[in-house]
Amino acid sequence: MKVLFAASEAGPFMRTGGLGDVAAALPKALTKAKVETHVIMPLYEGISEQYRQTFEFLGSTVVNVGWRQQYAGVFKCVLDGVTYYFIDNEYYFKRYSIYGHYDDGERFAFFSKAVLEVIPLTKFYPDIIHCNDWQTGLIPVMLDGFYRLIEGYGNIKTVFTIHNIEFQGRMDISCVSEVFGIPGEFADVCEYQGDANMLKAGIERANKVTTVSNTYAQEILNPYFAYGLEHILGQRQYKLCGIVNGIDTKKYNPKTDKALFKNYDLKSIAGKAECKAGLQNMVNLPVAEDKPIIGMVTRLTNQKGLDLVVEVIEQILSMDIQMVVLGTGDWKYETALSEIAKKYSNKLVVIINFNSDIASKIYSGCDMFLMPSRFEPCGLSQLMAMRYGTIPIVRETGGLKDTVIPFNPVEKTGRGFTFKSYNAYDMLDAIKRCVGTYYNKEEWNACVKNAMSGDYSWEQSAKQYIELYKSIL
Ligand code: ADP
Repeated sequence: MKVLFAASEAGPFMRTGGLGDVAAALPKALTKAKVETHVIMPLYEGISEQYRQTFEFLGSTVVNVGWRQQYAGVFKCVLDGVTYYFIDNEYYFKRYSIYGHYDDGERFAFFSKAVLEVIPLTKFYPDIIHCNDWQTGLIPVMLDGFYRLIEGYGNIKTVFTIHNIEFQGRMDISCVSEVFGIPGEFADVCEYQGDANMLKAGIERANKVTTVSNTYAQEILNPYFAYGLEHILGQRQYKLCGIVNGIDTKKYNPKTDKALFKNYDLKSIAGKAECKAGLQNMVNLPVAEDKPIIGMVTRLTNQKGLDLVVEVIEQILSMDIQMVVLGTGDWKYETALSEIAKKYSNKLVVIINFNSDIASKIYSGCDMFLMPSRFEPCGLSQLMAMRYGTIPIVRETGGLKDTVIPFNPVEKTGRGFTFKSYNAYDMLDAIKRCVGTYYNKEEWNACVKNAMSGDYSWEQSAKQYIELYKSIL
């Protein structure tokens, strides 16, 4: 079986969040399970020279984007046994950031068309194209609209994974014909509520639609979570399912992660105390082994529950704890948190940055990890925290509900602390329960042990994707 995995980002080349992690790890897990999986993504300006040096130029072609004719070069490299293709077009991808441009619709319509157009250059004719999020939502439509009669394309099936339904690639309706160049009967599937909607197009036309946890697959049938697409998903429920994400347990391993102040595992858990002291030292917090320290590594946005955190931050800080927040995002949260950190400089540190090295130091050096998301399709940060023995405090939504089993002090089962309602005081209560347990060393150690011995690998989920691929072939 051959799978072409199309994504707008993939680690280690380019990554802004969970999608980049998934596109790095799932193809590896599929390859390990003997499914030939190649990844295709744009050649961004930010991809480092270290990787570019290993690229091989396969050739170029011309892609029609509406009335425009655009150059598309293809480069190839192999990393850790997985083959990657990069679509080169400097007009679209030589930019200072990968998203957030006025012409994102056109950029990713171009990318989607190029994915299909360059298949003969790669000589990799897939059985399945696995598309991810709105940036690749037009692939199933374009495949049906333009390519089906070309040799090698007739039997290709498509899977479309929704990593976050909030982002839909909504454009002016004129884009469908002018920019995407999609004619007649296929234009209708790209339209929703008067706009062009690239996510909706993918949902309509793919053979299977997945999302990244079971709970989120249920939640997005509900208007609170669906950002307007509940009716479309309701109609397409027959082809929708949830498969929970894993993490790259080789990369995120406290025993080998080079970013840590001291490597450790369950048997050498004392090393975690050195990570804590190292973190406190690095961020200029008092070095105190017995003070619980709460970490956050997150986009600073409404989705991630930052409004709850800001609402009760003074109550949180009134406890005998410390807190370290790493993130970038909405200006209002960046400034609110930075201002509070100035006032409570011996308790709260806020680092406005996207930095994987510091992230690892927080996952390893903290005792607790706060993730009070309004909604969370899967969430990877809580998995990384648990892998590093850091106890998650989460809201019971989406993948957080599926992966963080509440700690039961009687049975000594579970690996985190949870709350249900999207309410700052319910979150505060969960934090207090977690901090209370921290001081009961027997219970705490049991909770840490449960967290660290959980299976967060991709193995089980990769098997589910393989079953799904088989079901449509
Ligand atoms: P989302 O994709 O919604 O942002 P996830 O929890 O699925 O959330 O994935 C977030 C990923 O991005 C994790 O790997 C996390 O460690 C990483 N990340 C988020 N913010 C930062 C940051 N400021 N610095 C480094 N890594 C970050």
